[in-house]
This record gives sequence, structure tokens and C-alpha cells, in this order.
Amino acid sequence: MTLPPGLPVVDHHCHLSPAGEGVTAAKRFRAAGGTHLFLATQNYAARVPRSVDDYRAQFETTEALARRVTAEADVVVYSVVAPYPIDLVRVAPELGVAAALELHLAALDLAGRWVRERRAVALGEVGRPHFPVSPEIGSAIETAFRHALVVARESNCPAIVHSDDLDTAGVRELASRGAEAGVRAGRVVKHYARARFAPADRSPVTPSYLARRELVREVLHDPAPWFLETDFLDDRKRPGAVLDLATVPRRAAAIAQGSPADGELLWIPFMDSVEKVYGFRPEPRAGSAP
Ligand SMILES: [Zn+2]
Repeated sequence: MTLPPGLPVVDHHCHLSPAGEGVTAAKRFRAAGGTHLFLATQNYAARVPRSVDDYRAQFETTEALARRVTAEADVVVYSVVAPYPIDLVRVAPELGVAAALELHLAALDLAGRWVRERRAVALGEVGRPHFPVSPEIGSAIETAFRHALVVARESNCPAIVHSDDLDTAGVRELASRGAEAGVRAGRVVKHYARARFAPADRSPVTPSYLARRELVREVLHDPAPWFLETDFLDDRKRPGAVLDLATVPRRAAAIAQGSPADGELLWIPFMDSVEKVYGFRPEPRAGSAP
């Protein structure tokens, strides 16, 4: 292994499911050299959550998975929780838009509480659907997103944003939404970024880049903060989607093998950016050598 000694190897956004590979996928990540996962919650049930208790149960599933991954795969896991923005769209026809919005806001408050209790490190995913919705739903979505950003500020944590692909104007709009809510610079994170954001255009939005080979090469010399992620879905019907969980450590190893100088640049997404955006350094694994 030619990675710099002590370098954490971090996938900044993935999902795991009790119905999917779960710990097995995390072991594959570990075997490839991965050390830290940011684990985003998701709907584990067939039905979209209908109550705050449904969301609590969902977050608890994420937390239980995180514990198992740490115990059985020796990977440090940080949980990221929030009601998925698209839940609001799905549940509105049944509950009505007003009740669906009320539920969503309450679930965001619950997620904020989890962060303040240190059961999670960020709110995510929050934001907007990546498909068109009716004006009525659209306005509820905007109210929910505004609330999510306020809760992120109050909970002193990042907001991990789900949205359509953003151009420069879209990134600026997102930045101003974060600023309006008082979210600290860097703490609005555009997850699933599929193209490079020029550092001058993106500040203070932090991109979490999909770890495709060419994109990683393209952004490697950019200053912090930026992250790498797989958005691994752990869905048996879509194996390896979006990228396999072993991808980030494999890319890191390939970069370090190609050039030790480039290997040193990996401190940017894996250490410096975590510190800048989250305010802590990825801690060493319990079982690892100093
Ligand atoms: Zn995701």
C-alpha cells in the first residue's frame, strides 16, 4: 500500500440497507483500504414514512447499521439523517400537502435533535426533487428546504443537499439560500456532484464529487473543501449503483501508486475538508496502528 501513512480514506456519502449487502459491502470497502464512511439514512421500508415515529425508526435502523459496520468491519461510521425531500412529494397525495409538510418539518426537527445529541453529524439528504413537481408541492418543498437550512444552522452542522445537477447559477442560488439561513460557509454541501465546480464559482458551497476516475483526476488539485463519494445505494436490484462501495479506496490507491505527490493531495478530501466542514478530524480506527 503506497498511501501516505495515517491517511484516512473516506467515502463521504453512501447508503447501506439491512435488506441489501450491509456489513458485507462495508467489509469490501475496508479490504480495499477504506477507513471512514458517512452513512446517509434512507427509507428501509416499502412505504414512505407517515409519522415522526416512522422517521425515528428509520434513523434508528441507520444508527444500528453504523454500529454493526464499526464492530464487524472495523470502519468508522458517521450517520447523516433527515427526511428525504422526495418523501414529501410521495406522501402528499395521501396526507394532503399541508399535513405532509408538517410531518416533514417535524422530521427535520427530529434530525436536528439527533445531531445535537451527537447521534448524527449532518442533516441529509435535504433539498429538492430532481424532477418537476406541481407549484403547490414546489412551494412546500421550498418551505421544507428553508427549514432544513435553519435546523442545520441551529444544530451547528452541515446540510447535505440533494438536487438536480447545478450549473454556476444554480450553485450561486444554493449559496444564497444557505447564507439567508445563516449556515456557515462550506456547510452547504452539494452531494452527487458529477462535474467539477471551479473553486472561484462554487464558494461557499462544498461539492461532494461522485468518485468517477476522470472527475477525481480533474478536481484533485483543487483547494479544500471538497469530498469524494460513491452514493452507493445497497439495492439488490441495482448492484453497484451508483458506484460500488470499494470505489473511493480503489481510486485513492491508484492515485498514490501513480504519483506519491498526488497521493499527498488526498489529505484534502479525506482530512482537511472534513475538518473544515464538520469541525472534527476523522478519528483513527479503534484497531488501527498509530
Ligand atoms: Zn444518497
